[in-house]
Amino acid sequence: MQQKKWILGNWKMNGRLAQNADVLSGLLKQPIASENVFVGIAVPSVYIGAAAAQVSGSRCVIGAQDVSRFAADGAYTGEINAAMLQDAGVQFVLIGHSERRQYFGENNAILTEKWQNSLNADLVPVLCVGETLVEREAGLAESVVAEQLSILDGRELSHVVAAYEPVWAIGTGKVANHEQIGAMHAFIHERILSLCGNNVKIRTLYGGSVNESNAADILTVPHVDGALVGGASLKADSFAAIIQAAAKIEAQN
Ligand code: PEP
Repeated sequence: MQQKKWILGNWKMNGRLAQNADVLSGLLKQPIASENVFVGIAVPSVYIGAAAAQVSGSRCVIGAQDVSRFAADGAYTGEINAAMLQDAGVQFVLIGHSERRQYFGENNAILTEKWQNSLNADLVPVLCVGETLVEREAGLAESVVAEQLSILDGRELSHVVAAYEPVWAIGTGKVANHEQIGAMHAFIHERILSLCGNNVKIRTLYGGSVNESNAADILTVPHVDGALVGGASLKADSFAAIIQAAAKIEAQN
């Protein structure tokens, strides 16, 4: 895991085979092959195989939006375990996206299993954290995020990838301001160091209405090591523009 910006897309429950192929071929035609930017897209699980085959040999990798809490094969109808994702060509997994927490009741006990199963299958787990607007307005943003990060407690990890996604900024067009992003990313950085020890390498992505117009600005905030992009990753041109913004910033560093 090299220290460069990571731009990850999250297609959520969108797309069809032909449409996905168009987005990926549009993306692969763009100059996204910067050494300085790691590019990935978390696609719906049913399309992982096709997407992984299409990006094979390019600098774009495929991720999953979720993984089973159960590690072993067996009688878990509907589930997809980490080994299957790995076998299908997945390299990273979103863990605890706010939509999973909200609609599927994912809590720290479940997310701990998902995190560990991903690591055991050599997948990179991306731990998504973030507060709701009510929590922020009640002054609880840091304590909520600290609680979400607590699944890392006491683990001897060499690398941690987290995504700070204020729930109120996801899919709403509202973006957290520089101060809010900078303060929370610094907090997350400190928290992970205190949970996992000083040797851990930390990468914290920002997510929440990132698009081609605001990416360059957001990616220069200290401790912002990349972006997790929902809506704008569904359009090849928009996603490519975000990747290029990251490449430009890295080239200037
Ligand atoms: C997301 O799905 O993680 C996300 C940040 O979505 P959007 O970019 O659409 O706000």
